Order: sequence, then C-alpha cells, then structure tokens
Amino acid sequence: AVKATQVHKAFGSLHVLKGIDLTVQPGTVTVILGPSGSGKSTFLRLINQLETITGGSIEVDGELIGYKHVTKNGQDMLQTLNDKEIAAQRSKLGMVFQRFNLFPHMTALENVMEAPVHVKHMNKAQAKQLAIQELERVGLGERLNYYPAELSGGQQQRVAIARALAMQPEIMLFDEPTSALDPELVGEVLNVMLSLAKAGMTMVVVTHEIGFAREVADQVVFMDGGVVVESGGPEIIDHPTEPRFKDFLQHVL
Ligand code: ATP
Ligand code: MG
Repeated sequence: AVKATQVHKAFGSLHVLKGIDLTVQPGTVTVILGPSGSGKSTFLRLINQLETITGGSIEVDGELIGYKHVTKNGQDMLQTLNDKEIAAQRSKLGMVFQRFNLFPHMTALENVMEAPVHVKHMNKAQAKQLAIQELERVGLGERLNYYPAELSGGQQQRVAIARALAMQPEIMLFDEPTSALDPELVGEVLNVMLSLAKAGMTMVVVTHEIGFAREVADQVVFMDGGVVVESGGPEIIDHPTEPRFKDFLQHVL
C-alpha cells in the first residue's frame, strides 16, 4: 500500500504540491488524472524518491520513505536515510515512464536482465530465466534478441514494463506510459497493464486514457493545481461533481 499524508513539494518558490492525501490499497489500481503541470509526475517521483519531499509524509507498505525514526538524547527524531536504505525502499517500486529509456546497445533480453544482475546481483542464468518469463508475460517471447531500434514504440514500452517487473516490485508506478506512442500502439501497452492489474499488481497510473481509467481503476484521482480536487471510484468519470473535473473531462473525452 501507499499512504500519502499532506504531501507538499516546492521547487524553490514554485509550490507544486499543496497537501496531497492519497491511499492506495494493496492489489488495487489508482489512476491519476489532471491537466499538464498539475503535479502528477512530481507526485510519482516523490513516491519513488526521485525527488525529496518538502512536507508531509509518504509510507510504502507501512514504512516511512526517505526517513527513519531515531532516538537522540531521549527524543524521537527523524533522520534521512542513506543511499543504501533508499535503494532498498526503491526496490519495492517499479516505474515506467513516457519515454522508454531502454539501453540502445542491449537486446530486449539484456535490457530486462540488467538490473537483476547488476542491482540484485542475481546470477546470469537465473536472471535470464526471469527476463524470458517477464518478456513472455508482456507478449515479447519472440523478440528476446531484438535491439530497441528494431522494435516498435509499443514493443519498446512493453520491454520497459518487463524490465520493471523483473525487479519483482510490489507496486508499479506508470507515468503516461502511452502518451509517446502512435495511437495504433496504445492498445497493446494498455492490455499488458490490464493483465497486470488482473494479476493483482498494485498500480498507480498517470494517464489521459479515460477508457482505461473507467475500465481498470479501482480509484480515480483528479489533481489540479497541486491538490486532489476530486477522487472516488471509476464512476466519478461519468458523474463528476467538481466543476474543474467536469471541465477537464469535457476536454479529454
Ligand atoms: P504533465 O501532464 O505535463 O506531465 P504534470 O502534472 O506531470 O504535467 P509535473 O511534471 O509534476 O506536472 O510538474 C508540475 C510543476 O512543477 C510544473 O510547473 C513544472 O514545471 C514544475 N517542475 C517539475 N519538476 C521540476 C523541477 N525539477 N524543477 C523545477 N520545476 C519543476
Ligand atoms: Mg507529467
């Protein structure tokens, strides 16, 4: 589970997140909607500790991220985690970005094996087995030895998903995973995400794919101006109450 409590983030004087409260239950899919600049990516990046939080807290699996409680002179204090501790927390999360950022000089298989071998120190034979399994899961069992340049955008994005899955994360974060794709390639990526959701993966998905949200989300969150304006079950997409959300939906539908 992910529990965000009054999360604030500022970049200098730019106050981007202004008190986000959000809980993601295990095995559920949360879709975050919102206009450009509303802070969606920043929020995901905070969960994955790619940015440091300005205020509030985020717990993953009941564990505070980025900080630990220590006792100093009989007083409870928060201390920032060291790099190793942060890496351990991050390993629970898989993240997929708009741009696939695969290693261009490595095959699909090598891309997926990379982190298990170099981060988890898994032996190569074992990592290869795992990578094949994950590539099969995203429908790329026939493309193991292709280089990114030899794959379509949709296939590359599926390799990126397999690569994240190979680290066996508890939670998957997706930041507009289909918005860089040609329209005809969007469906194959959404289908992989749908099957992951059905398999019980905990997912937080930033997307403009309203159909996906309606079909797959357990929880829909509409962010605007650094706050959660409206949230609820997927039915809020067809029955929004907040004017800003209504307005947004009219523009994307
Ligand atoms: P989009 O839909 O366009 O991806 P978003 O909701 O993901 O938008 P963010 O990328 O989170 O929005 O950005 C929110 C605001 O924070 C924007 O005004 C952006 O310019 C600003 N911002 C994001 N990252 C940084 C940074 N590293 N330094 C300064 N400002 C930043
Ligand atoms: Mg973004």
